[in-house]
Amino acid sequence: MLVNHHPDSERLTAFSAGSMPLSQALCVSAHLEMCPDCRADLDSLNKLGSHVFNQMKPSRVSNDLKQSVFKQLNDTQTHDPVSNSPARNETGRVASGVPKCLFQFIDDDYDSLDWHWVSPSIRQANLCVDGNGAHVALLRIKPGGKASHHTHMGEEITMVLKGAFSDESGIFQQGDFVVRGSNDKHRPIATKDSECICLTVLDAPIQFTGYFSRWLNPLLRRAHP
Ligand SMILES: [Zn+2]
Repeated sequence: MLVNHHPDSERLTAFSAGSMPLSQALCVSAHLEMCPDCRADLDSLNKLGSHVFNQMKPSRVSNDLKQSVFKQLNDTQTHDPVSNSPARNETGRVASGVPKCLFQFIDDDYDSLDWHWVSPSIRQANLCVDGNGAHVALLRIKPGGKASHHTHMGEEITMVLKGAFSDESGIFQQGDFVVRGSNDKHRPIATKDSECICLTVLDAPIQFTGYFSRWLNPLLRRAHP
């Protein structure tokens, strides 16, 4: 697999430090499963972080703060979403190329998800909304299918899980990590040889700008209430 588009170093550093919103961390995790280069970079960042941490001088804290931290640790229930989700069809998910970080959302394979109609070429399956309000979803575009022209009110991260799509700035294929800002206007088109499935994280709903925008925008708001 040839991966051409990667998370930038700031994003990878935030992932290593654990300071990234969960929705974005999900996209980076999916990318890491498909990109040995970024796995090697992350390993270096983790070692660097560990070294810096070991060099830090401990400072004294009050007993109240200590007790408060220990209480919070005791109150926090350990939660392992992957192991809590019964492995209903591990083989199906692996055979379908579902990244392990998405097993918590997918029982069997991509077909087992609840896909909502967005347009004749596009279906959407909502996965979750993180604590910051970012929406995590899968988009499924038919071979050769075209999304409408749209802009973003916030940042959009797209991780290509299967197939490939192109837009005004190039071709993006399996494993690629693509970030679009609030000023970007684009129209993704799936390549004709296969369907394209992408993991997307949206800070805010996208805004369609093309001919069908009057009826597509309300549909998407319904999919992302
Ligand atoms: Zn990478």
